[in-house]
Amino acid sequence: MALVVMKFGGSSVGSTDRIMNVARRLIAATESGDRVVAVVSAMGDVTDELLELAAGISDAPPEREMDMLLATGEQVTIALLAMAIHSLGHQAMSFTGAQAGIVSDSTHTKARIEEVRADRVLEAVDGGAIAIVAGFQGLTPEGEITTLGRGGSDTTAVAIASGLRADVCEIYTDVDGVFTADPRIVPGAAKLATVSYEEMLEMAATGARVLQLRSVEFARNHGVVLHVRSSFNDNPGTTVKEADETMEQAIISGVTHDTSEAKVTIRDVPDRPGVAAEVFGTLAEHNVNVDMIIQNVSEAGTTDISFTTPKEDLVRARRAVEAAVAALGARDWQVDETIAKISLVGAGMKTHPGVAAAMFRALADAGVNLGMISTSSIRISCVIDAKEVETAVRRLAERLKARLQRRERSRRRGALHVRRTLRRNMGLGGLPATLVFKRKQRERPDVVVLCDVSDSVRNVSRLMLLFLYTLQEIFQRVRSFVFVSEVGEVTDVFRQERDAARAADLATAGRVVSLAGNSNYGRALKQFHARFQAAVGRRTTLIVIGDGRSNYFPPEAWVLRELRRRARRILWICPEDRWAWGSGDSEMPVYAREADRVATVATLLDLEAVADQLVPRETRG
Ligand code: ADP
Ligand code: ASP
Ligand code: MG
Repeated sequence: MALVVMKFGGSSVGSTDRIMNVARRLIAATESGDRVVAVVSAMGDVTDELLELAAGISDAPPEREMDMLLATGEQVTIALLAMAIHSLGHQAMSFTGAQAGIVSDSTHTKARIEEVRADRVLEAVDGGAIAIVAGFQGLTPEGEITTLGRGGSDTTAVAIASGLRADVCEIYTDVDGVFTADPRIVPGAAKLATVSYEEMLEMAATGARVLQLRSVEFARNHGVVLHVRSSFNDNPGTTVKEADETMEQAIISGVTHDTSEAKVTIRDVPDRPGVAAEVFGTLAEHNVNVDMIIQNVSEAGTTDISFTTPKEDLVRARRAVEAAVAALGARDWQVDETIAKISLVGAGMKTHPGVAAAMFRALADAGVNLGMISTSSIRISCVIDAKEVETAVRRLAERLKARLQRRERSRRRGALHVRRTLRRNMGLGGLPATLVFKRKQRERPDVVVLCDVSDSVRNVSRLMLLFLYTLQEIFQRVRSFVFVSEVGEVTDVFRQERDAARAADLATAGRVVSLAGNSNYGRALKQFHARFQAAVGRRTTLIVIGDGRSNYFPPEAWVLRELRRRARRILWICPEDRWAWGSGDSEMPVYAREADRVATVATLLDLEAVADQLVPRETRG
């Protein structure tokens, strides 16, 4: 006789009719010969209503009393459901979390289950009754009632399934399973047949509220296989389990979004060692959860630090930040509560390129501006304006679908498309992102790059060097040079160093060219011409990267004119906007005349546009 745990969420028990429906499903399961334990949530929006009631009394109620209040929601459901089963002529017995032996720690409102002593539950099912357990609540060893955090009934179900070594753990909800995106926002989203724990963890952590994050952690740690399915129909749902070889490693399994965080920015923080430790140490002391962090490139000895945090931690975050600002002598700080985080999750990202580029492109096409970016090996997240979240999610989901369809078609052709790939995480002045391009087998561009690594372009030269490194990885025929007042070749440094960030460090470590002097474009260009002009041929695209600020040394623009005669074309990438050209020691107007094109590049997206020019569009991924 199999033992099954069946969990029903709030909307599945949202009315007496629905409770009767659940009762019938449970009875059907016992009639097929299973022993059944049901775990249920509070009816409909009851938990929200209880929270509102409390807010009407106090904005900081004691957390012990909060748990006392919230635990009542589930208690209503278990009693009604037991009555419903009785009314249909079957046996049932309800249990609060305490009675069911759910032992938790004492972190009120976010308690963790430590142990399950489900003897009474087991006794009930062995005696032929359907056991009904209140989700979302536990009891500390000291006898205090706790709750497990929003969505916590999922975790109750998994813990009971693990504690009782159940054969099946089913999570019944108001959608048919786990989808590639929230099916309420993206009606065309596809249901996933299986998802690995790893992917489900990232999806839950980034806002797919269909399963509570902790329930997935618990399931993974204890090897509980989950089946997420609809309480309103019999369609097969989604299996959540350990990844195995037979499981399709989808490039992207899902698009998730989360509007529950706020962004805090501390401005003009002195840029010295220990500052981040001070800020985030203070936040930790105040028990504030921090998600994404960005430290901007410093200017004139100060820098901005931004981070995201759950809105529910904001009261504490404000206190902590105020203390940190005072301690560090930062200028001020601000909070933006209108942000949203959208994420792409997929285990196949580890081995497939192009995902980040496609994501940035899709968002750019939709006119969505990116705030912060962060990645893990199977996830990319961007912070955007909350107003734009629906557009962004839809857009990404459409892209995802198109990609899946394309993959499906190439699979049907049976041909394995071997692509040279590249995937690198780059530290763009503290902004990690993945810049990925794809090339067609036949594509053999011939590229020579000359990159200014002097102090005046320090902020962008690192980004540019990572770009260079990326180019070299994708295309075989790329030679890379750096300069300040003399030129040195870094092609081999890049080729030998597997880590992009380290390669960029090496290229600017002063071993290839001296970093001591001021940049002297004229001198460097003349030297390049004398030593390396043979590298530039009829098919060469010469790319010069720099701000053209030559410290009033002669610009020697004739070198460019000469090289242009030899080359296919010259592209200049300049980090300064056009209005700044010609001011002070800028020779940009002179150089621009000798180049076929000048692109101003300050961001990753600008850079992508430049990459577009090197690779014909249809060969890019
Ligand atoms: P329950 O009350 O059954 O616990 P929840 O509201 O906690 O249900 O979770 C189910 C909801 O999760 C769905 O109604 C859906 O809107 C939302 N959701 C968000 N992302 C996803 C996703 N990727 N797949 C399925 N549902 C999702
Ligand atoms: N009723 C609780 C909530 O709304 C627990 C749950 O539904 O899982 O968060
Ligand atoms: Mg839920």
